[in-house]
Amino acid sequence: MPPGPRQGYGDDMWTCDRCGATTTSPTQAYGWTTSVEQGRRLRFCVPCSREHLREIEGKLDSDLW
Ligand SMILES: [Zn+2]
Repeated sequence: MPPGPRQGYGDDMWTCDRCGATTTSPTQAYGWTTSVEQGRRLRFCVPCSREHLREIEGKLDSDLW
């Protein structure tokens, strides 16, 4: 599923804000990372979270990755 506008999704649908991966299971969302950048709440899947853990911890904007 390509990334796109996210509408009507509650907390049961998580979309990675970097690669567009999705999960519909709250249990599968365990390990995902949430980050607030410029007032937006972003979510990152496990692979993206691991790959960019340093950047996330450094609170760099994902646009700079
Ligand atoms: Zn991802």
